[in-house]
Amino acid sequence: MTHPDEAAVRTGGRARPVLLTVDDDPGVSRAVARDLRRRYGGDYRVVRASSGDEALTALRELKLRGDRVAALLADYRMPQMDGIEFLEQAMDLFPRARRALLTAYADTDAAIQAINLVDVDHYLLKPWEPPEEKLYPVVDAMLETYLASPDAAVQDVRIVGHHWSAPSFAARDFLARNAVPYRWYSVEEPEGRRLLTAAGAGPDDVPVVVPPDGQALLAPTEAQLAAAVGLTVEASTDFYDLVVVGGGPAGLGAAVYGASEGLRTVLVERQATGGQAGQSSRIENYLGFPDGVSGGQLAERARRQAAKFGAEVLTARAVTALEDDGPARVVRFADGGCISAHAVILATGVSYRQLDAEGAGELTGRGVYYGSAITEAASCAGEHVYIVGGANSAGQSAVFFARHASCVTLLVRGPSLEASMSHYLVQQLAAIPNVVVRTSTSVAAVRGADHLEELDLRDATGRVETVPASHLFVFIGAAPRTEWLDGVVARDGRGFLPTGPDLLVDGAHPPGWHLPRDPYFLESSVPGVFVAGDVRAQSVKRVASAVGEGAMAVTLVHRYLGER
Ligand SMILES: Cc1cc2nc3c(=O)[nH]c(=O)nc-3n(C[C@H](O)[C@H](O)[C@H](O)COP(=O)(O)OP(=O)(O)OC[C@H]3O[C@@H](n4cnc5c(N)ncnc54)[C@H](O)[C@@H]3O)c2cc1C
Repeated sequence: MTHPDEAAVRTGGRARPVLLTVDDDPGVSRAVARDLRRRYGGDYRVVRASSGDEALTALRELKLRGDRVAALLADYRMPQMDGIEFLEQAMDLFPRARRALLTAYADTDAAIQAINLVDVDHYLLKPWEPPEEKLYPVVDAMLETYLASPDAAVQDVRIVGHHWSAPSFAARDFLARNAVPYRWYSVEEPEGRRLLTAAGAGPDDVPVVVPPDGQALLAPTEAQLAAAVGLTVEASTDFYDLVVVGGGPAGLGAAVYGASEGLRTVLVERQATGGQAGQSSRIENYLGFPDGVSGGQLAERARRQAAKFGAEVLTARAVTALEDDGPARVVRFADGGCISAHAVILATGVSYRQLDAEGAGELTGRGVYYGSAITEAASCAGEHVYIVGGANSAGQSAVFFARHASCVTLLVRGPSLEASMSHYLVQQLAAIPNVVVRTSTSVAAVRGADHLEELDLRDATGRVETVPASHLFVFIGAAPRTEWLDGVVARDGRGFLPTGPDLLVDGAHPPGWHLPRDPYFLESSVPGVFVAGDVRAQSVKRVASAVGEGAMAVTLVHRYLGER
């Protein structure tokens, strides 16, 4: 193997991104590396390995050093670990590295598997002579995609903070959910202290974020953080055909269909695109992904797709008001400013309910987490993790954390899992030896000095047991957060937004409705304001239906625009 260090030629103090090739045939491996160096050696470091294990070791080292990996070229047929298995594990370390599978002969099954499991960009037949015709165009295309990703633009974000600090966790979680790579330093380690000193900050200023330009941010807001790492936070203009509020599957679906059908479209997301789905470790029932897909990958593909069609995606901007200004719909942001549009799609989904247990509020972000908090996976190694909830989201999370923790206990309030969780997940959980399901159990209290240390668990008889715990992940249902629409758009008693026929009472239009026609199927009580996904009253809480409603809402937007 070419050790990453051997090739670590640094330009301007920053290592060039890596092209990694892995092939068990030394002759082929040398030839690929030679061809790659010949054309890309000036801008990239070429690292080669002769097995999947060796390549993963190299990738782990690169990861620890904060280096970037632009592309992975893996041979399919290798002993011990085949190319697809390697690429699947490599994606956990470098999700943005582009991927190609090399094979000696056409193998349709392998190609299908490669597309489904690891979303390969290319499937290359060996030999690729002459490289100018066969290899380089493929690698050029992969690098073009890589260079358009934030991984290339944001080269070295460093965060210094306390592990058990809620704001430090929030900053890491924000970057992870937006797929921005970063390096994390604890204030306790020498490099962390050095960075704090360099930034003129003290331990109370954390998190301190040092973006590639070296302009340190002390305890930044999410919008400041987003801007510093290269995410778009400002709209390029103040009037659009369509504003989509919320960047989950419904919003992303609407943005893709809106922009691809020629509408000037902007999507506004308050935290990270992907929404709830972005938190899912593996979505198994979304059409077209027979082997499942992680929410992060699905969100990343959708984001790229929306951008490809020209939709603007604003991150870290919360919408706090909607106004009906004659022909225009005005959307106001929490931090000031506004944009207007002919039509609006509300796709704000739902948010987790807070755990009603003594002490939970104080320890949120310090051992108590809502959602999967995938950034915490590494610190769960060897720990006993508790998960609260009996629905699919809790089940998926248990499957995910079982790969990292020594033991995962799923705490379910009801008497069984079957009533609330899909059959396939119940079966998966039953087959994982380090997952324990405790039914008829709820969390009565959580305690800890500066982070979670123990839980009080109450069973159906009222008996309370205290157990030591460092990580508690909460998935206990969700509610829409639509208070900001009160008095503007009709809401039902639980805050969901009724649309279309649900707005008609004895055939009468909702108050304030001024058109002679009925509201369209996904139209709210305000003409030109549509609703898609989980936030809609009576919606089916699924990724597929959210995406479908996003697409359908766009069709109705066209119909609405056509009648003006
Ligand atoms: C862990 C987990 C696993 C799941 N697994 C599956 C699965 O396997 N299969 C399946 O079909 N479904 C699954 N679901 C359900 C699925 O993810 C949801 O049904 C789907 O995400 C709903 O999409 P949405 O776009 O309507 O809303 P959301 O995904 O909730 O997205 C809404 C977005 O709007 C943003 N937002 C909210 N308010 C504002 C505002 N005022 N301004 C700006 N932005 C705002 C939020 O930040 C969020 O990003 C899972 C859910 C979870 C939590």
